[in-house]
Amino acid sequence: MPGYEFWSDAERKEVNDVLETGILMRYGFDGPRKGIWKSKELEEAICQTFGSKHAQLVSSGTAALTTAMGALGIGYGDEVILPSFTFVASFEAVLSVGAVPVFVDVDDTLTLNPEAVRNAITSKTKCVMPVHMCGSMADLDALLSICKEHNLVLLEDACQSIGGTYKGKKLGTIGDAGTFSFDFVKTITCAEGGAVMTNRDDVYISSDGYSDHGHDHRGVDRGADLHPFIGYNFRISELHAAVGLAQIKKLDTFLSLQKKNHAALKNILSAIPEISFRRIPDEAGDSCTFLSWFLPTEEATRAVIAEMKAQNILAGNFYWYDNNWHYIRKWDHLKNSVTLNALHPDLKAAVIHHAAKDFSVSDAIMGRCISTAIGLLWTDEQLKAKGEHMANVIRKVLSAEKQMA
Ligand SMILES: *Cc1c(COP(=O)(O)O)cnc(C)c1O
Repeated sequence: MPGYEFWSDAERKEVNDVLETGILMRYGFDGPRKGIWKSKELEEAICQTFGSKHAQLVSSGTAALTTAMGALGIGYGDEVILPSFTFVASFEAVLSVGAVPVFVDVDDTLTLNPEAVRNAITSKTKCVMPVHMCGSMADLDALLSICKEHNLVLLEDACQSIGGTYKGKKLGTIGDAGTFSFDFVKTITCAEGGAVMTNRDDVYISSDGYSDHGHDHRGVDRGADLHPFIGYNFRISELHAAVGLAQIKKLDTFLSLQKKNHAALKNILSAIPEISFRRIPDEAGDSCTFLSWFLPTEEATRAVIAEMKAQNILAGNFYWYDNNWHYIRKWDHLKNSVTLNALHPDLKAAVIHHAAKDFSVSDAIMGRCISTAIGLLWTDEQLKAKGEHMANVIRKVLSAEKQMA
C-alpha cells in the first residue's frame, strides 16, 4: 500500500533542494528561494497526473476535507451524508465546520449504499460525501444522479484511493471537490499533507484563501494581501511538498505493483469457494491498495482472525469491525459527542442521534470482512507463501466449523 516502502535518493534530493535555500515556507521570499517552489510544482503535478483543473495542497487529509467543506459553503444547519465505514477524519471535518454528520449504511462495495443515501435526505441535506475506502470506489453514477436530483454537492474523500479511477476518470476529480491524504501510510506520502482537487474555479479560489488565513494571494507582499473572508492556517511546508514531488513520480510504479500483487493474492484465495470479494463498481479502476474479502459468517471471520493471530500472520490483515478508527461500532466518543469545547446543544443532540442509529445492515457486511494490505516489496515467492498460509488457515477454520455443524 504505502509509498514509504520506496524511500530513496529521489526524495532526499527534492528535500535537499529546499534545505539548500532554507526557505521552508511555500509563499513569499521570492528572491532567496532561488526559483525553488516545491508546493507549486507538486500542485501542478497533481493537476497533470489526475486530470484536475485545480489542486490546493494543505497540511493533511483532514485539513483538505475541512478546507473543501469551507469552500463548498457547508456549515451551520447543513447535513452531510457519509458512510458508517470510514476514517474518523471524515466526521471530524464535518464537525469542524459546524455541520451535522449523517451516517448511513454501506453495502458490499464497502462504500455508501445509494439507497441508504436517498433515504437519509432531508431539507437540510447539503452534501453527499462518498469515501473511497481501501483503494476502491463508491458507485459514483448512482450518487451523482442523486446529487443532481436533489441539488446537493458531492465531495469525494479519496484519501485512501490515490490513483484509482471510475469509468476512466480519477477518483477525487469527479465530484464538486475531492481530497487526498499524503500522510505516512497513504499511497503517496509527504510525511503529512493533503490536497483539495476541484474543477470549479470558485471552490479553488476559496480553498486557496481558506487554507492560508483568508489571504487573497493577489499581490507580491503578503502583508498587503486582502482577506475577503476568515480562514485558517492549513499550509503545507516546502519540505513536505518536496517529499511528495518525488513520490508522485513513482505513482505508476506503485500502482502497477499493487495491481500485480493484488491479482496474485486474489487468485490464491479464489480457490476457496466460501470466500467472496468486495464488489467493485468499476473493476479496472481499483487502485488495489487492499484486497477485501468476505467469509460466510461473523463467527467464521472471527475464528479466521484468531487463527491468523495464533499462527503469527495477522499483520497486514484488518478486521475493521473491531477496529477503533474505521467503523462506527466502536466510536463511543462520537456516540456520546465527547468534545473538549462545547458544541451548540442542537448540534450535539444531532450528532448523538445520527451516530446512535441502527447500523445492523452495515454490521452484517463489516462483521464478515477482512482487508489484506497489499505490499509493494513482496517477492513472488513471499506472496505465494503468504497467500497459501492464509488459505490454509481459512480452510482449517471452515472445516472445523463443518465438523461442529
Ligand atoms: C487518511 C484519511 C484521512 C485523513 O488524512 P490525514 O492526512 O491523516 O489527516 C481522511 N479520510 C480517509 C478515508 C483517510 O483514510
